[in-house]
Amino acid sequence: MATCTDRPLRTSSNIEYLHAAVERGVQAARDGLVSTQIPALADVPATKFAMAVAGVDGTLLHTGDSAEVFSIQSLSKLFALCALLRFDPGAWQDIGWGPTNADYGSVAELERSHGKPANPFVNSGALVVTDRLISHAGDATAATIELLRTSDNSAVFESDARTARSEYLTGHRNSAIAHVLAEHGRLQNPIDEVLRQYFAQCAITADVRALARAALFLADRSEAADVLDESSTRRVNAVLLTSGMYGAAGDIAYRIGLPAKSGIGGGVLAVMPGHGVICVWSPPLDPAGNSAGGVAAIEEFARLARWSVF
Ligand code: GLU
Repeated sequence: MATCTDRPLRTSSNIEYLHAAVERGVQAARDGLVSTQIPALADVPATKFAMAVAGVDGTLLHTGDSAEVFSIQSLSKLFALCALLRFDPGAWQDIGWGPTNADYGSVAELERSHGKPANPFVNSGALVVTDRLISHAGDATAATIELLRTSDNSAVFESDARTARSEYLTGHRNSAIAHVLAEHGRLQNPIDEVLRQYFAQCAITADVRALARAALFLADRSEAADVLDESSTRRVNAVLLTSGMYGAAGDIAYRIGLPAKSGIGGGVLAVMPGHGVICVWSPPLDPAGNSAGGVAAIEEFARLARWSVF
């Protein structure tokens, strides 16, 4: 794979780390399976692989299919949450922040908690985030894209209508969750409106370079000032560490030690506070629902670069 740097790199060893990480990631991807949950995404080639590392010093290293856009899916939950926190830093009260052992799409757990989501990265919490964004901004996808473009307003983020429609037609579990939320008085907007906007937000497409750059504010306090207040930035990183990787968050904290978020489109990003952001796209998922190649590549890069918050 050709490796490109958009700006001078601080150390050449980062290029070696990137190559080693990709090699490991490509190998690990062979054990994963591309998600068929959203029919429009079921045919994405399993061999796609892209990786970008954005440094707080302005460096950007990227390789593989890094110019190709992919469906960010649950990665959008992170950016929608940050967009909401800009309107209302106290929104945590409605969406929760604690970890859970339940599946991210669990209806049973939501029933047990009387419709109170566990955190913003399970689907119930993400639906409440979208609902509140609609109340504040009208268009939750536009507000999420605006947040994504804060640090680089030339970056291209678009919602793919075909993917959104495909999920709207088949997303029965999300529909059930939205109804349970409404039953408990947790939504401010009509159920169908919340679902449509949530699916449109999940259907945003982007490439790894743009995503790594867009998340830099989580690693760089000076950038964060333009995006989120310091306490929100810390909280978002904390909740990423404890709940960003579905049921494997504890495993990822143990193996890698970085706040991270993944999506069923095969995207995964990890934040090293003070240093930078890694973003990988590799569609085959492991049994926990995380990109098999993405996790392996991030683990290898973090090990070699000695990136860990611990
Ligand atoms: N749109 C998908 C859903 O809501 C996203 C799932 C994911 O990436 O985790 O189920």
